[in-house]
Amino acid sequence: MSALLEVQGLAKRFGSLRALDGVDLTVEEGRLTGLIGPNGAGKSTAFGCIAGALKPSAGSVRFRGVEIAGTAYHRVARLGIGRTYQIVQTFADMTVLEATTTGALMRRPRLRDAIAHAREVLTFVGLEDKRYRLGRALTIADKKRLEVARALATEPSLLLLDEVMAGLTPAECRDAVDLLRRILARGVTVLMVEHVMEVLMPIADRIVVIAAGKTIFAGTAGCAVRDRRVVDAYLGS
Ligand code: ADP
Ligand code: MG
Repeated sequence: MSALLEVQGLAKRFGSLRALDGVDLTVEEGRLTGLIGPNGAGKSTAFGCIAGALKPSAGSVRFRGVEIAGTAYHRVARLGIGRTYQIVQTFADMTVLEATTTGALMRRPRLRDAIAHAREVLTFVGLEDKRYRLGRALTIADKKRLEVARALATEPSLLLLDEVMAGLTPAECRDAVDLLRRILARGVTVLMVEHVMEVLMPIADRIVVIAAGKTIFAGTAGCAVRDRRVVDAYLGS
């Protein structure tokens, strides 16, 4: 078992606010790691720093042993890290196929290749029939699915999912978990932020908990729910 991603001492300041103040996490190849923590803990900021959307103030982000902290978003995507956004990118005026193609173009500069790949991804996630719909016409569940499709179209070996199940009905959550399992079966490693612990517990190999910008726990999901610091962080929020 080898670490695909190793984050150490990650810090990010926004002016005087220390959004991240010592995040450590390791993601093993081929596994699903859950990242949890109270609102405002710094989970989305950590994703931004890993994916190159934000420049860390300090700390190290190693992907396949290579330091990538501060590397630009498009280069990180080409290295194999794909992500979804917590606030779904609406792609209001784009069709499902166009939005997915923007992801595919990160790796496939020829438009025809990119479109063909986008269509394969849409079939995989179950949106092929809706490929000519506009983003704004989609249900929340389909918008989330489109977010995943766009990220998958960049052909990631590490996929960062930021609350893709938030706002979904239990039935839609089950569909999303099924899609997750199929993504894992393809060999994609997943790091996901999710609030619904019942969703995470059965599928996560490991859980990392952050609170107030710091890692306070890393271990199995079973141990997480019995850890006093974890329980306190949630009850205190
Ligand atoms: P989480 O995803 O765990 O809910 P976030 O990473 O979104 O938390 O936010 C962590 C902290 O950083 C919060 O206090 C939030 O208000 C702040 N923050 C996040 N993004 C920015 C930004 N771009 N500018 C200023 N403050 C930010
Ligand atoms: Mg967040």
